[in-house]
Parts: sequence; C-alpha cells; structure tokens
Amino acid sequence: MKWKRGPVIGRGSYATVSVATTSTGALFAVKSTDLSTSKFLQKEQHFLSQLTSKNIIQYKGFEVSHHNNNKPMYNLFMEYATRGTISDEINKQGGSLDESRIRSYTCEILLGLDHLHSKNLVHCDVKCRNLLLCEDGVKIGDLGCAKVLKNSETTTSQFSGTPVFMSPEVARGEEQGFPADVWAVGCAVIEMATGCHPWPEITDPVAGLFRIGYSGDVPEFPKCLSVEGEDFLDKCLKKDARERWTIEELLRHPFVCNYVNNSSYNETRDSPTSMLDQGFWESLPEPVPVVGFSGEGPVERIRRLVEGVPSGFPVWEDESHWIAMMKKMMSLKA
Ligand code: ATP
Repeated sequence: MKWKRGPVIGRGSYATVSVATTSTGALFAVKSTDLSTSKFLQKEQHFLSQLTSKNIIQYKGFEVSHHNNNKPMYNLFMEYATRGTISDEINKQGGSLDESRIRSYTCEILLGLDHLHSKNLVHCDVKCRNLLLCEDGVKIGDLGCAKVLKNSETTTSQFSGTPVFMSPEVARGEEQGFPADVWAVGCAVIEMATGCHPWPEITDPVAGLFRIGYSGDVPEFPKCLSVEGEDFLDKCLKKDARERWTIEELLRHPFVCNYVNNSSYNETRDSPTSMLDQGFWESLPEPVPVVGFSGEGPVERIRRLVEGVPSGFPVWEDESHWIAMMKKMMSLKA
C-alpha cells in the first residue's frame, strides 16, 4: 500500500502516532517506532489484528519502512480517531463531561472490554488517554500493556499499566486479571466526571502505592454523580477483586443498561471462552512488566519501585512520567 505520513497527533512512551493518507486520500493513523525497539508495538499489532469490535480501534495492517538511509521503522496502521481521546474531550468541555455522556461512553468502554475479555485478554491500561473517539463512538486503544491470560490464570509475577489507575491487588503485586480492568473503568468514570485521575490528593508515589494497595481507602466518588452513578462506581471500586462486578454484570447496571439496549451487544457477543492463538502468545516475550514482584515485603517492593529510578522521583500526577519510569526500570532490569 502506498501511503504518506502526515502530522504527529500523539506521542506515547514507546511510539509516535501520526495521521497518514493513502494514495486515494483515505485517512488513517500510523503508530511508529524503530524496528529494533518495536517488540511491544508488534505485540499490539498481533492483539489488534485478532479483535473485531466496534468499540476497539480498528486494525488496518502493518509495514516495515526504510526511508532514505534512516533506521527501519515498524509501522502499525489503525483507524484514525478523528475526535482524539476522551481526555481531549474532557478538556474541550471545560474539565468534565455531563452524566449522560459519561453513561454512554462508559457503556461503549464496557462493550469493548467485554470483547477483549471474551478473547482472554486483559487491557491493563484503561484510562481516558487510551480511549479514542471516532465518528461512530468510543474505541479502546493502546493495547501495548495488554496481556493474555493463559487458561484460567489470574496471577502473574509481572504487572503493566499506570500506577494511579492500578487496582489494590495489582499495587500489592498479587494478580492482574479481568477485575483490574473493572477497577480502571471506575477510575475512568471519575476522570470523566472530574477531569482528574482518581487520587488527586496524593503527591508522594510511595505513599500513593501503599494507599492504593494497603489502606481501606477507595478513590473519592465525584459529588456530581447521580445515585446510580455512585452505585456503579461502588461496584467497580471494590477493594476486594472477588467482590467487584464483572463487565457482563456491569452492562446490566442501571447506569448504562439503557445504552446497552440501544447497541448491538446482544447479537454480536462472542463466546466468553474463546482463546487467541495460544502458541503465538507462548512464543512472545512477557508483556511490559512494570513491576517485577518476587515475594519481598510491600515496603521493600514499593521503595525499590521508586528508588530504582536513577533520574529521581516520578511526578505522581503525570501518568506519562510514570510510564516512562516503569519502562526505564524495565530496560534496566533486562
Ligand atoms: P503509552 O505511553 O500510554 O504506552 P503509547 O506509546 O502506547 O502510549 P498511544 O497511547 O497508543 O501510545 O498513543 C499516544 C497518543 O496518540 C494517544 O494518547 C492519542 O492522543 C494518539 N492516538 C493514538 N492512537 C490514535 C488513533 N488511532 N487515532 C488518533 N489518535 C491516536
């Protein structure tokens, strides 16, 4: 396919996203990085190429390009989200979204996650910056942290994602399964209602991870939400992962169920037991391991998490700084 790269529309910690055009003028998005450092983008390509949900950004192919004498680049082609991310929309709307919009966006996020979970995939990094807006609705993007659960596995020694959106069991280094995505949906609802991440009052990262993992606290529920909204958050933000509702249960919650009935959910739902090509996944490197936990105590683990970064403390509020820190730690460990 002949195509031309246009302006940069986003930068993540491991790739740059640009708008691009085909020779016939069709627009799409291209996420690119050096071929030599593209293993996570290749993993994202394989995940995306297996998924077919209206609420997950559509895969359009990939290519390795060699421009002039530059290093070869790995390019992942995707549907272009013309309206940016939900974070962009929150800013455009003056810092928060109204509840009817929160309900409809949440319904679409749940539908996308329902498809992912039906393929035994955990997204691991649900947040408004990774939720894209296209003309036909919300699409889940950035599967760079996603992982496949092997059979009924829920535990792992490696964890991915953005710390302020981590569930208590992930912060404690215990497990990262479907309930971790449900916790992050609750965090995304808070972001949509307030424009802030769920722990705005925490500034110290060590204290923050302790508080998420070990205190009895949950994020503060926005006062502007209806009783149904508060109840929905309560079901997502249970400290105990076993008490959290599943995506399927949440789709029946009064906060979103009217929107579900308007969608094609019931006709298109996949079997919840289907699996992606397991052989392929077993041959892949582990997903972005942000924190390698090895049975040490919580104090040592959280201190090591922070002190292992040579460039100093991350800025707690700035997710991209955290992600960069985690990925740096990852490369130091390798
Ligand atoms: P992270 O640091 O979160 O791992 P990343 O390197 O995986 O980031 P993305 O989060 O996928 O990169 O993309 C970075 C930004 O690019 C997004 O926040 C968004 O603004 C923009 N973007 C990504 N994909 C698209 C798309 N398909 N259409 C439009 N904009 C996009």
